[in-house]
Formats: sequence, structure tokens, C-alpha cells
Amino acid sequence: MKLLVATSKTQGARENDFNDCVEGELIWIAPSCSDGEASPDSECGCGRSFGGLNSHGGTTTALVADLPGFSYSDYAAALRSSLAAQGWPPEGAYEVATGLLAFTSGWEVGAVLERRRNWFAERLVPAPPG
Ligand SMILES: [Zn+2]
Repeated sequence: MKLLVATSKTQGARENDFNDCVEGELIWIAPSCSDGEASPDSECGCGRSFGGLNSHGGTTTALVADLPGFSYSDYAAALRSSLAAQGWPPEGAYEVATGLLAFTSGWEVGAVLERRRNWFAERLVPAPPG
């Protein structure tokens, strides 16, 4: 299935990029605080970032990845334990999983995405040299 994972690809394309996630870890689109709602370039960065399910860090770049063998219930379980660990209501995991899958289905595998509050765009990945 197609899922969002953390990537360092295209980091630095924006001056305020950051990546505190582990490369390849599952991420989700967490609700923003009021600062993040007001501006994606807020100090906290929550309006321009994706949240790591394991590291609980954030990254401004997300990769659409195909993870064969990973099921919807695996995904919901991963979300449930992560949401619980971060103080979000774990019973929201299925709704979050469904929403993320619907979101990800609209993008090609390999696309690197950035977030501007509730707006998302693909970043062009430069071809490797040579
Ligand atoms: Zn914030």
C-alpha cells in the first residue's frame, strides 16, 4: 500500500526546512497549533511539517512510498500506538489511517511532498548527477 514516510530528499529547498525524523519512518499529518494555523512558517513549524510515528519528531519533507505487505490494520495499529504515546486519542487511529490513505492515493509513488498548512505540493527531485 502507498504510505507517507519521512525523507531527507529536497531538504534545504526551503530555508526553514527541518527533518528530525528517522529516514523512512511512517509519518502522519498532525493537526497544527494556533501558530501553525496562522502561518506555515511559524517558529514551531507544525504547519509545514509531518510527524514521525516513532521518533515523534517532525519533517518538512514526505515521500510517497509503496510498502508491499503492509496492511491497513498494520497501519492503524502503528498509528494507534503512536497517537497514544503522544497524548492524542488513540481511538482516532482508524479515521486518521483512512484519511492518510485517501490522501496518499492521490500522489505517485516517489513523489516528495511539502506541506503549507492544509495545502500540499510535490517538490521536484533533481535527477542524480551523471
Ligand atoms: Zn505549532
